[in-house]
Amino acid sequence: MYDKNNVFAKIVRNEIPREAIVENEYALSFYDINPLFERHVLVIPKGEYENLLDFVSNASVEEQGAFWACFKETADKLGVCENFNVLSNAGAEAPFVKQSVFHFHLHFVSGAKKDGIKNILK
Ligand code: AMP
Repeated sequence: MYDKNNVFAKIVRNEIPREAIVENEYALSFYDINPLFERHVLVIPKGEYENLLDFVSNASVEEQGAFWACFKETADKLGVCENFNVLSNAGAEAPFVKQSVFHFHLHFVSGAKKDGIKNILK
């Protein structure tokens, strides 16, 4: 069940200060606090969805459209149109990288690796 006290829910509610890169009615993007690459951005919906599957199953067409518009505008704003990765972790036991914040988010990364990359495959 969705936990309203997760850190991204607090960011959406403005209980934690944020610097949005792009924001619209249903989504926002901001820099990851612990970047693993030169540019490491998170794109999140404002609605309460735990992971990607929850989002695509339950978010309205408007929310889903606004989410992808936010992703596209973020890419445009950062000038990233090639050589990037998008990753979404789902579940505390996800096999590649475990989810730690249980509010759906995309990691959108580009540029040079930072040292922390060695730690993500625990
Ligand atoms: P995940 O393992 O996919 O759940 O990743 C959650 C991500 O959220 C990690 O990369 C964290 O560095 C990032 N994160 C946690 N708290 C904050 C915050 N307050 N602002 C920005 N990014 C955060």
